[in-house]
Amino acid sequence: MNPLHVDVAVIGGSNAGLSAALTLGRARRSVALIDDGTPRNAPAGHAHNIYTRDGTPPDELRRIGREQLEPYGVRLLNTRVTKAGGSKGVFQLALAAGEPLSAERVLLATGVSDDLPNIPGLRELWGKSVFTCPYCHGWEVRDAPLAVLGDGDTGYGYARMIQNWSRDLVLITGENTTLTDDQLNDLEARSIGVVEAEVTEYERRGGELSTLHLSNSQRVARQAVFMRPPMSLRGDLHEQLGCALSDDGSRIVADEMGQTSVPGVYAAGDMVSPMHAVIMAAASGAKAAGMMNHELVMQAPRPNVQAVAAP
Ligand SMILES: Cc1cc2nc3c(=O)[nH]c(=O)nc-3n(C[C@H](O)[C@H](O)[C@H](O)COP(=O)(O)OP(=O)(O)OC[C@H]3O[C@@H](n4cnc5c(N)ncnc54)[C@H](O)[C@@H]3O)c2cc1C
Repeated sequence: MNPLHVDVAVIGGSNAGLSAALTLGRARRSVALIDDGTPRNAPAGHAHNIYTRDGTPPDELRRIGREQLEPYGVRLLNTRVTKAGGSKGVFQLALAAGEPLSAERVLLATGVSDDLPNIPGLRELWGKSVFTCPYCHGWEVRDAPLAVLGDGDTGYGYARMIQNWSRDLVLITGENTTLTDDQLNDLEARSIGVVEAEVTEYERRGGELSTLHLSNSQRVARQAVFMRPPMSLRGDLHEQLGCALSDDGSRIVADEMGQTSVPGVYAAGDMVSPMHAVIMAAASGAKAAGMMNHELVMQAPRPNVQAVAAP
């Protein structure tokens, strides 16, 4: 039996991938969307700052996204892509479960992962009381006792940002801060406390943060923490396909429309942007989809390739 051949294989079926698949399906493209069901914001109870959908649980957003693909014949494959290779017109994908498939174009929308340090209580509170993005979760903890983790210019700027949501704020810098005297004076003038210590434990009560334990033996009662853990691109499909990365390796290099350094391979969502948000991921997926469709429309007919017909 010939392997399934589609116009576009979308790898990753969360905000970027679902949005791209919708655009492509409505453009009557044959699409396979492959997703292994581990989106980045799954730990959070609600997704915020999304026009018309503010506060919707993340899994509900994805449920609606998948449901709305039904009329357009998008094939949903609930598995993981393990291997990707080939070139424009004939990309081949191997799956953890099921038959391999091939595609004219590939969209990488596999996201990034947050590499949380191994500190007791942190993983359990991630997305519930410990956050990274104030636009996503700042309103819910407005005026509450908050902590920001960070040091140097980044920590200083982050603390000033978070103070917009609560004036009851401490900046926890780690030991031996690199904050300048001017920054320390400015933080003091703004009534932002500075603590030079590491967090050693996130103590929970009723599933929420109650107290931070610090390396200097201090205990600080806080309702929520904002931090920016290191992030990395998920998986190695981008390497298998040969996509160029940004100098710091944190992003796939792609143009405004999502075209990567490899002809026919597009990327969207958190993988290509320094700004991470549901609505931005969805927008970049739609843009990449439009560009892929345009390319496919403009290419010369390829009589030997029989793509699966879309409805
Ligand atoms: C805790 C937390 C809370 C957040 N809350 C908000 C919020 O309230 N509002 C907001 O706007 N933003 C929020 N964000 C940011 C938001 O989650 C991301 O910007 C957004 O999810 C990016 O979408 P994406 O499609 O690029 O990637 P993701 O949502 O991470 O999706 C990637 C998808 O690819 C799949 N995948 C990965 N590898 C493979 C593979 N090899 N084969 C098949 N499938 C694969 C995964 O299963 C996943 O479904 C939050 C982030 C975090 C960490």
